[in-house]
Amino acid sequence: MKTVLETTNFDAGLIRKYDKQGPRYTSYPTAVQFNDSFDIPSYEQQVQLSNEELIPRPLSLYIHIPFCHELCYYCGCNKKVTQHPEQAIPYLRALYREIELQAQLFDHDRKVVQLHFGGGTPTYLTDLQLTELMAHLREHFNMPACDEHEWSIEIDPRTMDENRIDLLADLGFNRMSLGIQDFNPIVQKAVNRIQSPEQTEALMIRAREQGFQSISVDLIYGLPHQTVTSFNQTLDTVVAMRPDRLSIYNYAHLPELFRAQRLIKAEDLPTAETKLAMFGETIERLGAAGYRYIGMDHFALETDELCIAQDEGTLQRNFQGYSTMARCDLVGLGVSSIGQVGDCYSQNQKIIADYQNGLEKNQLPIARGLVMHDEDRLRRAVIQQVMCQDRLDFNDFSHKYHIHFRKHFAIELDLLKVQAADGLIKLADDYLEVTPRGRLLLRSIAMVFDQYLHHSGNTTRFSKVI
Ligand code: SF4
Repeated sequence: MKTVLETTNFDAGLIRKYDKQGPRYTSYPTAVQFNDSFDIPSYEQQVQLSNEELIPRPLSLYIHIPFCHELCYYCGCNKKVTQHPEQAIPYLRALYREIELQAQLFDHDRKVVQLHFGGGTPTYLTDLQLTELMAHLREHFNMPACDEHEWSIEIDPRTMDENRIDLLADLGFNRMSLGIQDFNPIVQKAVNRIQSPEQTEALMIRAREQGFQSISVDLIYGLPHQTVTSFNQTLDTVVAMRPDRLSIYNYAHLPELFRAQRLIKAEDLPTAETKLAMFGETIERLGAAGYRYIGMDHFALETDELCIAQDEGTLQRNFQGYSTMARCDLVGLGVSSIGQVGDCYSQNQKIIADYQNGLEKNQLPIARGLVMHDEDRLRRAVIQQVMCQDRLDFNDFSHKYHIHFRKHFAIELDLLKVQAADGLIKLADDYLEVTPRGRLLLRSIAMVFDQYLHHSGNTTRFSKVI
């Protein structure tokens, strides 16, 4: 069993050197490359091709619920804050129509083995709305009733009590992620998100009693008034609850891009040095507590499916971060959702009114996307391998993709000599291996293989490591 301490090597100097803006590679090509020449017929054609594969892939559904009761000031998500639950009614009507239209495209024998409700706040919906939505999905997609599936939901503990956990279990959910961010009352007040450890823990306990198999929590470092000591306290409180996974994100303060963040005073934010120290402490504490560093922001207990998938080579990076079940087609449902079917990425309309208007005319709300070409597929495979497996065997890769790896990526291998000299990777004749030191800087290695970044050189729209 390898813990964080064994698989990473925290080197503050190197992190500073490689702390450049860059994509998080939840897709390759990244969403920046999506364009509106990809339209509804393009999508329909790609789905048809996926149905005709020799062994069609099972399906993974992502459902976006964009509503929230209150505004968290750090938020950069696509959401609508409203105290009027009736605003969800026309949205759900449109979502139902989209479910019907999408389900008609896919052969019905393609099972839904993975389902994720994200937001916004999926638990903004009432019990009745959640029940009806699940019934609608079951009516139109092939959704197995037994334990063959991974159905997960993002939970805002402020919208929940233990009875609602029972409801989610009855609806078939067996995985959940809980938004926490920080338990310190001063930090919570500064970001307008007040929730107690007791309230959160009670939900986790009930979820375990109900047989939820993987419980994940989200934390953020770099929030206003956080200190190394205060964040350590939050970490200790969370670790004592023993979630199966933790996602620990770096807060990027971009008030010019995200209006909500204008409510955070820049002078209340911790310095880059303090954030670096928090990051270092996080690595150390989670390592000591038996968590494995999976890759960018994600930690998991050895018993969790993410670790098992990483060991078995089936881990993938997608729009939810790291995920299991790499061999699925992902159907994005709801405003702004992104799908990945066969060789294409597609994204829905980002504005709720546009999303609803299209569906009122019985049109799929697809706004943009792209069809990957051969070079994209190749580079996507390299980046996935670096981000998920930390190792790339050139001969295996050459054999699988019918190329000569060293010749095809001669420029990239040359560029990587700098990372090799800095000890981020081991670069041998026939393989590349990410070292414990490089594991905290995965995206700087992946960026070398990003052809679009080479051409544009523009990274300003992306976040930094710290
Ligand atoms: S952080 Fe989550 S709960 Fe808070 S406003 Fe954003 S989407 Fe809503």
